[in-house]
Amino acid sequence: MEQRLQKLVDRYSRIVFFGGAGVSTESGIPDFRSVDGLYHQKFKYPPEVMLSHTFYETHTAEFFDFYRSKLIVHGAQPNAAHRRLAALEQQGKLTAVVTQNIDGLHQAAGSRRVYELHGSTLRNHCTRCGKSYPVQFIEDAAGVGDGVPRCTACGGIVKPDVVLYEEGLDEATLEGAVRAIRGADMLIVGGTSLAVYPAAGLIRYFRGDDLVVINKDPTPADSMATLVIHGPIGEAMA
Ligand code: ZN
Repeated sequence: MEQRLQKLVDRYSRIVFFGGAGVSTESGIPDFRSVDGLYHQKFKYPPEVMLSHTFYETHTAEFFDFYRSKLIVHGAQPNAAHRRLAALEQQGKLTAVVTQNIDGLHQAAGSRRVYELHGSTLRNHCTRCGKSYPVQFIEDAAGVGDGVPRCTACGGIVKPDVVLYEEGLDEATLEGAVRAIRGADMLIVGGTSLAVYPAAGLIRYFRGDDLVVINKDPTPADSMATLVIHGPIGEAMA
């Protein structure tokens, strides 16, 4: 681990990690908001529209086409940052990971307390009866009829547990994240430009001494940080 970061980590036992897309880009998952990311590619509608609740309701088949091609990722593996965070939790030094990512890679690396602010592509539920389905079910629906995944039990639409534009964050998840950050003695913010609210506002709950920011570009939190590392997070944490 980066030496100055290691020194700080050694000092604390209630570390919380708050992460964004930059944590997953090193696993090959495109960053939504980076210059060459999803938001600058060309589609029939802007991605913010296609990933909105209104679009899901009114253009359901198109929503799932887009969702399948752009949000479901194949074969991505946890990277050095994911693995280090899981190890820190196991060592009793890290109490929680709060993430804006929806790929489940923290859990795949072994992290257990993970607050997924924007949900997860790995969880899907029937909007009528609540039956849960794996991501494969959403994928397999691509070749069937209009491509909209429908519950095998009741015929209701199976919706990913991903927070769409216009939708609020899950309250229990948000509360858990706030509690973790408030109780943290050290906060590491990594791989996020802190541009997306309300998620980015969560770091205001931090009351501890040392805030560390690891991001390729400057963030609004840099001025409050004890340590700022402008570089790839996998490198800083490996
Ligand atoms: Zn159902």
